[in-house]
Amino acid sequence: MDKNIRQRLEADLNVAMSRLRQMGGAVAVEELPGAIGNNSPFADEVDEIQANESREIGFATRELLVERVNRLSVALDRLAEGEYGTCVECGEEISPARLQAMPEVQTCVRCQDRIERLGRQYEPEETEVLVDEE
Ligand SMILES: [Zn+2]
Repeated sequence: MDKNIRQRLEADLNVAMSRLRQMGGAVAVEELPGAIGNNSPFADEVDEIQANESREIGFATRELLVERVNRLSVALDRLAEGEYGTCVECGEEISPARLQAMPEVQTCVRCQDRIERLGRQYEPEETEVLVDEE
């Protein structure tokens, strides 16, 4: 099982890395010559909106990929150290089904739920003050 997990993590990591490489340092913003006539009074404005949207989508995708690469690297490290599959929050085993769906996760479903709930309601600095109500 460990070997399969490692292969899966490495494969996912390779895919994420190569996508990141394809994106390069800057995200290309496609220009659309002729899509809008240059004599249109709105041409500049529309171009700018489209460029901003492309940049934001590119940036968001890139950020997600970088996060994924980081998570996968951490998962591989934890696998090497024999800590893989254990929740970093509570130390319980993460369910195999959850690992199957998302091999890079580091928290069990319960802790993930709690983190997401807290994340929506509180600033990160305040989370440590909270008591576990469950
Ligand atoms: Zn947990």
